Amino acid sequence: MSVIRNVPEIFGSDVFSEAVMQQRLAPEIYRSWKQCIETNTPLELSVANEIAEAMKIWAIEKGATHYTHWFQPMTGITAEKHDSFITPAKDGTVIMEFTGKSLVCGEPDASSFPNGGLRATFEARGYTAWDPTAFAFVRDGSLYIPTCFFSYTGAALDMKTPLLRSIDEVSREAVRILRLFGDQETTRVDACVGAEQEYFLLPRDMYAQREDLRLTGRTLFGALPPKGQELDDHYFGTIRNRVSQFMKDLDEQLWRLGILSKTKHNEAAPCQHELAPIYSSANSACDANQLTMQVMKKCAAKHNLVCLLHEKPFKGVNGSGKHNNWSLATDAGKNLFSPGKTPRQNAQFLLFLAAFIKGVDEYQDFLRCTVATAGNDHRLGAHEAPPAIVSIFLGDELTAVVESIVNSTDYKNPKKTYMRIGVDVLPSIPKDTTDRNRTSPLAFTGNKFEFRMLGSSQSIADPNVALNTIMAEELGKFADELENAENFDEALHDLVCKTFTQHQRIIFNGNGYSQQWKDEAKKRGLSNHSTAAKSLPTYISEKNIQLVTKHNIFTEAELLARHEIHMESYCKIINIEALTSVDMVLHQILPAALAYTKSLTEGIISKKAAGIPCKAETALAERLSNASDSLYENCEKLRSDLTVVPENIDEAVAYYHDVIVSGMELLRQDADLLEQLTDKSYWPYPTYSDLLFY
Ligand code: ADP
Ligand code: MG
Repeated sequence: MSVIRNVPEIFGSDVFSEAVMQQRLAPEIYRSWKQCIETNTPLELSVANEIAEAMKIWAIEKGATHYTHWFQPMTGITAEKHDSFITPAKDGTVIMEFTGKSLVCGEPDASSFPNGGLRATFEARGYTAWDPTAFAFVRDGSLYIPTCFFSYTGAALDMKTPLLRSIDEVSREAVRILRLFGDQETTRVDACVGAEQEYFLLPRDMYAQREDLRLTGRTLFGALPPKGQELDDHYFGTIRNRVSQFMKDLDEQLWRLGILSKTKHNEAAPCQHELAPIYSSANSACDANQLTMQVMKKCAAKHNLVCLLHEKPFKGVNGSGKHNNWSLATDAGKNLFSPGKTPRQNAQFLLFLAAFIKGVDEYQDFLRCTVATAGNDHRLGAHEAPPAIVSIFLGDELTAVVESIVNSTDYKNPKKTYMRIGVDVLPSIPKDTTDRNRTSPLAFTGNKFEFRMLGSSQSIADPNVALNTIMAEELGKFADELENAENFDEALHDLVCKTFTQHQRIIFNGNGYSQQWKDEAKKRGLSNHSTAAKSLPTYISEKNIQLVTKHNIFTEAELLARHEIHMESYCKIINIEALTSVDMVLHQILPAALAYTKSLTEGIISKKAAGIPCKAETALAERLSNASDSLYENCEKLRSDLTVVPENIDEAVAYYHDVIVSGMELLRQDADLLEQLTDKSYWPYPTYSDLLFY
């Protein structure tokens, strides 16, 4: 294993970064590019041509022969189609060519990507357009150009386009608020995101022997091993040699790609690990997270490992999530969720806090939908991840501040004026660094919010679109109110006080795993969509349609299309899992159990002939036989249930959840019992202890 000697030197070395552009582009071209980004205007073709030429020369030096528009279709992963730079010359040789047009615009066939009905069948084309705010990079001999993906009619077909739209919206509305506080300098406010990524690593040879892992990314069967994670001996434990080689390699590859990989450690479950990057702007964090997941998979293969990004690879063992740390910062780098030192700064902080609290309370369902997937259903509310109920953890100190503001509504009473915002003395708000309440779905952690409901395999785009958009909505409404106020300070105080009072119900600092919280949340009127099947239908509520269309995040058609894709994807995933279960039962599990039963019964016959007692074999054979019968019966039932799935998508989602998921659970009960009863030499695939304690 080579030693990485010079991290600063390799960091970003495969990225056509701003520094590289400055170095390699003519000053006026560099300035034009910079201006386009700052003013959000399209590049002139002549400028694009110059950039393309410089990019090509740089990429060829890095060993690239191809380029690809890299985009994020609604599959949640990324897509790419590679073209080589070669162009024939007259004399039969080739030259390497890359034009501004090829940089700026591409035309992949859109017909194989989910479009939710946005693409008429006669117009299969989709277009990709360079996102000049994201840097191109070289990977495996190709120049990667981050792009947006949209249809002939301009409808967004990807995850990046709405993210970019939401980033602009929240910036615009936040700047309006800053102006009210006398800030005339800030021109942009950035949504900042740091996404912590959990994953499992397994030996490749064992993974290859399990059809469920290969086809669905998780185990559909498997009895619990004698040892699980109860000893807590894995969390932050020493990292296995093979794994640490992998991590070293991974870091190097990520650093080359300019990804700020920072922290790595073992997680709670055996074979589970986490990687946290240093936060960056939401768009680049989203690209970086997609790349991180891909590099993890590739790098694992190189080390004879497999990286599982599924939310719940193993029953009875903690699953994997993604913590999405989110904040807003000005272009000068000032974090708007940092409590200030002066009353004025604190007043501004409290206003942003109020907007966040109001937004989350009003759009609980929308946020919940952004993490509603078949895989995440195994985690949310299962005492290893936050519950399916959205709430905000503020910590005791900040909650006390909110409460005193709420309780001193009669601010004309002199005894109570000490909390009057921005006017009188407000105690400087302490940074709450004590948060170790891992049960909260959305925790304030000093100067940012940590959204912890995300599944490990999902794109972080949707959740951040939601956070940015609800924030834009509330800040915009606040700005409307305050811009017209006669007395700003009075109006500000009233607004913050009113908002905290009306939306206090969303604040909860206690144990989110407890039954008491479920009861309490119900009393407070909070939503509790316990599964994706219950949550997904709320995505297209009138309220959400109004929200996203008002801020131009989605047209109504785009939102409906996404909804359809989420619903379809849920059904497809469960369908594949169910078919795989049936396949494994009929071709692996039953044959193994029956073969072992047969060997037992043959033994019984010979023992009986010899007049020897055979109690153990008889009892075992009976239990095996009963479980096999029950398994076969349930398997046939599941098989026939799968043939009568309702056509209507709403009904299908409910059916997959109510009938198919529970049918699979029934299969699992018998199959796992058979695994425990059967001689290991008969068992057709590696067990949990083989996989997790290799
Ligand atoms: P923990 O494990 O306690 O949640 P980590 O240090 O592992 O904390 O991860 C915290 C994540 O939050 C990191 O990715 C970090 O870069 C990110 N982060 C820190 N400050 C901000 C901020 N202001 N905005 C967004 N993300 C942030
Ligand atoms: Mg975290």
